[in-house]
Amino acid sequence: MSDPMSRIPVTVLGATGVVGQRFVRRLAHHPLFRIQHLAASDRSAGKAYQEACAWRLPAEEGEAHGGLGEQMLVPATVADAFSPLVFSALDSGPAAELEPQFAAAGAYVFSNASAFRMEEDVPLLIPEVNPLHLGLLEAQRARRGWQGAILCNPNCTATVLAMALAPLQQAFGIETVMMTSLQAVSGAGYPGVASLDILGNVVPFIRNEEEKVQEEIPKLLGAFTGGAIHVAELSVSALCHRVPVVEGHTEAVSVKLRGNPSVEEVARVLGTWKPEPQRLGLPSAPEVAIRLHGAEDRPQVRRDVARDGGMSVHVGRIRPCPVLGIKFSLMGSNTERGAAGGSILNAELAHAKGYLQGLLTSATAGGAR
Ligand code: NAP
Repeated sequence: MSDPMSRIPVTVLGATGVVGQRFVRRLAHHPLFRIQHLAASDRSAGKAYQEACAWRLPAEEGEAHGGLGEQMLVPATVADAFSPLVFSALDSGPAAELEPQFAAAGAYVFSNASAFRMEEDVPLLIPEVNPLHLGLLEAQRARRGWQGAILCNPNCTATVLAMALAPLQQAFGIETVMMTSLQAVSGAGYPGVASLDILGNVVPFIRNEEEKVQEEIPKLLGAFTGGAIHVAELSVSALCHRVPVVEGHTEAVSVKLRGNPSVEEVARVLGTWKPEPQRLGLPSAPEVAIRLHGAEDRPQVRRDVARDGGMSVHVGRIRPCPVLGIKFSLMGSNTERGAAGGSILNAELAHAKGYLQGLLTSATAGGAR
């Protein structure tokens, strides 16, 4: 572990929530970043982190509150919580108001909220899928006059789907995707879905979820040319369900691929994919982006979701689809790959590509603005 003072100071906005806790756990011992501020709503500001935040991560995933239980929570304002790097686990409403204020003040904001995902100058980033989309930052800063920037990670259901689609798009091209999800309750935050609604039940509705997946996948798989994203031309239909699972979204996927490749060709492409974070050896990158399962009853959330710290996407049961050609099951962690871990990997990619140069000095020069 490097000297703490050589690591970039960061703020976690929404540190008390489901995603915020995962940020704190990951950042407590990160080689590039160190936590400077923990921020949440006015309900929590002024309290010690352990008092305001009911820690819900399993004991085997490290010390409660990331060892920062006594740190005071501050309001989520630029005046109280500025750091040159900000990880935002805010709900979409407060994110829409607060994230631009941090970016205008010079911070690089890595956001999990949906507020800015579809803005044409905001990268919707998954380092394995579209690392070149980082190039949008120059246009964003010039257009908005910001010293900092906002970078988003996608909706959690779209994230794990895009991870499996990206190698297929690169190898064959995709015409159509049909995806039916079985989504964990942690995806709804805390306290989330009432236990009386979800225990022993399946709820075939998650507000705005299908629309987000259908909009975000074409942007994620789009090409970055001429300083802009050109969305991929494919049709996506998503059918989303909430199920009584704590962590991990499962998705049943059918795809129509150009050239109608065989099951074996599809499995080879998914199983040999080695994208940018794995080539660069980024600290939070899993050894392999996609873990292929051969057993007829995998992947399963209970057995597979924690593997690779929740950062790999699991694919199994690749088989012929009589309607679209190929179908398979996939599963991935919504709070890690689909949220906190994905956001931190985005920051690691930006750092590796030289976008975060000088942030250590701007931390002391910019200070609490
Ligand atoms: P959550 O558990 O409800 O946490 C929300 C956080 O936002 C809490 O820390 C809360 O602080 C804070 N907050 C709420 N209103 C605020 C305000 N006005 N000012 C400052 N802070 C405020 O939600 P979550 O599941 O962690 O989700 C956080 C974000 O990540 C959302 O935008 C969500 O859509 C996105 N996301 C979630 C997942 C997932 O799997 N859960 C996956 C991908 C993306 P208090 O404790 O003080 O109220």
